[in-house]
Amino acid sequence: MKTIIQKVNPEYFEDSELEAASRILQTGGLVAFPTETVYGLGGNALLPRAAQRIYAAKGRPSDNPLIVHIAEMDHLFDLAEEVSDKALALAETFWPGPLTMIFPKKESVPASTTGGLRTVAVRMPNHPIAAALIRQSGVYIAAPSANLSGRPSPTKAEHVIEDLEGRIELILDGGRTGIGIESTIVDMSGDMPVILRPGFYTKIMLEGVIGRVSVDPAVLLTEPKEDITAKAPGMKYRHYAPKGQLTVVEGDMERVVAKINALTEEHQSRQEKAVVIATEESRQFYISEHVYSIGSRKTEGSIAAGLYDILRLMDHIGAEFIYIESFSEDTLGSAIMNRLLKAAGYHRIQV
Ligand code: AMP
Ligand code: MG
Repeated sequence: MKTIIQKVNPEYFEDSELEAASRILQTGGLVAFPTETVYGLGGNALLPRAAQRIYAAKGRPSDNPLIVHIAEMDHLFDLAEEVSDKALALAETFWPGPLTMIFPKKESVPASTTGGLRTVAVRMPNHPIAAALIRQSGVYIAAPSANLSGRPSPTKAEHVIEDLEGRIELILDGGRTGIGIESTIVDMSGDMPVILRPGFYTKIMLEGVIGRVSVDPAVLLTEPKEDITAKAPGMKYRHYAPKGQLTVVEGDMERVVAKINALTEEHQSRQEKAVVIATEESRQFYISEHVYSIGSRKTEGSIAAGLYDILRLMDHIGAEFIYIESFSEDTLGSAIMNRLLKAAGYHRIQV
């Protein structure tokens, strides 16, 4: 299949620029598009064959459900059987934005979109191209991240091209995504709201609107666990991973630097390519020839925004061993650590 790659300026575009993409979605095809979190791989959420094509294009296990993207509050009631007052309050506060909520699903949502679950995940993205595409096509867009299953999520059209060219009809290139990590997912289908995936909106921010929110135990895992049948089936799969072995090194900075430098020497003596992902604050202390800075600890937002790009870069430079510092679990740090530990297959060293 030939994939059309179409540039669209998110600041200014005409309806006509989304015509081809809209038609593809309406007829069951696949379009990758930018959102404020990462690029999504979109298909018609109400057409079972579109969902099946998404799983095939990504090489994704079909029990890992998709998030359905909408552009208006009214759309929610076409998809969700029941919407609690708390969910409405969260929607009012955080939509459009990087928050996904889980609801009991309407009959019309096919099981192939929800990975066989009786619930559906819904999000209203805050990105002009995503919103216009949903409105113009008139399609509720089921969209997981637009990467091959297991690889880091795409934050640039180049990442989507790398993974999916030849497998989907069209890629809308709207430049870099802003936030760079996936939405916060909160299950609103039971009595107690439960965070299934940390993201830009934190537990404290959600609690500020609706009171107590709990966190699924699988989110807090710091060790691999094979037999998780938690509510977010995606949790059990290895994710975001570069090809080399990534290790997160935790502890105070001086010790972390000393440990990584010692490991670097060992790798050098074995002629292995070991790379350090440092921060602006620490980069100068490493002896490795291959040190990359992920950004400043003072701006966690920029670290989140650049995380997947740097993990992909590791494959391009042929890194065999990758060491990265850890981040505090405050605010965005908990989402960053959640993604990093998964990418590392929970490989970590405490010093
Ligand atoms: P992705 O779009 O690649 O970030 O993946 C979507 C993720 O949303 C899945 O891996 C699940 O963890 C989660 N998800 C989607 N639908 C549901 C649902 N009905 N119940 C629980 N989790 C869901
Ligand atoms: Mg994904």
